[in-house]
Amino acid sequence: MSTQTLIESNELFIGGDWVAPQGSGRIDVHSASTEELIGSVPDGTNADIDAAVAAARGAFDDPQGWAAWTAEDRAQAMERLADALDARAEETCQRISMQNGMPISIAQQLEGVFPSVLHRYYAGLIRATPMREERAGLLGGTILVEKTPVGVVGAIVPWNFPQALAAFKLAPLLAAGCTVVMKPSPETVLDSLTLAEAIREAGFPDGVINIVAGGRELGAYLVEHPRVDKVAFTGSTTAGRTIAARCGELLRPVTLELGGKSAAIMLDDADLSTAAENLFAATLLNNGQTCFLGTRVLAPRARYDEILGVFGGLANALQVGDALDPTTQIGPMASARQRERVEGYIAKGKAEGARVVAGGEPSEQERGWFVQPTIFADVANSQTIAQEEIFGPVLSVIPYDSDEEALAIANDSEYGLGGSVWTADQERGEAFARRVQTGSIGINHYMIDPAAPFGGVKASGIGRELGPEGLQAYLSTQSIYNKQGGAEAGAP
Ligand code: NAD
Repeated sequence: MSTQTLIESNELFIGGDWVAPQGSGRIDVHSASTEELIGSVPDGTNADIDAAVAAARGAFDDPQGWAAWTAEDRAQAMERLADALDARAEETCQRISMQNGMPISIAQQLEGVFPSVLHRYYAGLIRATPMREERAGLLGGTILVEKTPVGVVGAIVPWNFPQALAAFKLAPLLAAGCTVVMKPSPETVLDSLTLAEAIREAGFPDGVINIVAGGRELGAYLVEHPRVDKVAFTGSTTAGRTIAARCGELLRPVTLELGGKSAAIMLDDADLSTAAENLFAATLLNNGQTCFLGTRVLAPRARYDEILGVFGGLANALQVGDALDPTTQIGPMASARQRERVEGYIAKGKAEGARVVAGGEPSEQERGWFVQPTIFADVANSQTIAQEEIFGPVLSVIPYDSDEEALAIANDSEYGLGGSVWTADQERGEAFARRVQTGSIGINHYMIDPAAPFGGVKASGIGRELGPEGLQAYLSTQSIYNKQGGAEAGAP
């Protein structure tokens, strides 16, 4: 019998308030660990997006509105939001873990912390970033180079890190002076209710942040809405291509954070004896439902069996269980569809001749969308499981004979998002890392940092989030030519 109280909402967060939806559809949310119904929210319609965009547009176009607030006032509102998020962090983490299967210990380290850290970071950055520069013109006079907010943003986030990835967008766009309509994924809508409460408490002008949950059609409607100025998307490469094509037609700026199939490259001098925790975070974090993971493990042939042993041992020792159990290291997949997808890849790996070293069998859990952590050996980089993003706890260990071959394998991928190099020699690691075609890469670990730009090359996306670069993505540049100071200056 369920002990869970249903988390239900009958309203959407538009124009700074809870308002009735214009349709009657509902999104039901189930626990990934127990499959029980845990809550439901209104399924947004195009009319709701119209209302939300109108609210965001009004808030942006108001001459005394958010964009006109001083950097200091915006920064203080963002810091109030950070405090309000911190106050709700535990509740937010519980909701996320129930919805997408993220182990609660990981939710507490990442989803419970990243958003408020990001709001405080961008609050500090906007205070310190000059928005106007005066330059001497080469042809006389002076030029004012002004940074202005790009306008109304349509932000679309996936379910795997729903709050952190929302904050990757919200924090810099708010700092820049933009307003937003955010569309969470249907799998993770309950945590967005907590976010809306925090926004209300923080005291933003009405309409600065609006949240309408719904599926991909609703996302597509938001992307091409005539009153949206910029799109920020995190999700699959397939959806990213569609969105990029539409934004191309509209000549609408877009940031795309897409899929990955990164390499975790073990060099021949790597010391893996005490690396288990870092290896786990770099390859299996959040049940493998993380875009930057090094899911292709490249191992020197001379140490192949040893490295297989390390990963096989790691996978077999992982505590698999209910995402809310604080001892759980691997929880369930976010949905039945996602489990089916991952199981399909495991079957494909076997069919294409890869050898199972750990896992590979149906989960023994009685309920929940669980998949056994699975390690494949003897994988060729050309095989499906080495080329396609699986988005589950499945690693392919690929042998190589020389550093040059390891590099060629690492770069033989449609994607280029994350990755890691493991070595006892930091300089060697950095030199190797520079040659990997990827947006970010770690030496002996991998973890995103708010101060470092994050994003992909190749099919992993366009543009960068985080760091000062993430702020620039929400600013446009205007030059104001001023004849004063030139030859005719002062002429009557
Ligand atoms: P998805 O692309 O199916 O959905 C992501 C979001 O986009 C959802 O809100 C969905 O409703 C919406 N959407 C889907 N199609 C759309 C369309 N045509 N137009 C507008 N909106 C659309 O992805 P998912 O399965 O929810 O998330 C997993 C994927 O996200 C993985 O491929 C993963 O690698 C990627 N991801 C990337 C990053 C990154 O920063 N690069 C981070 C997390 C996840």
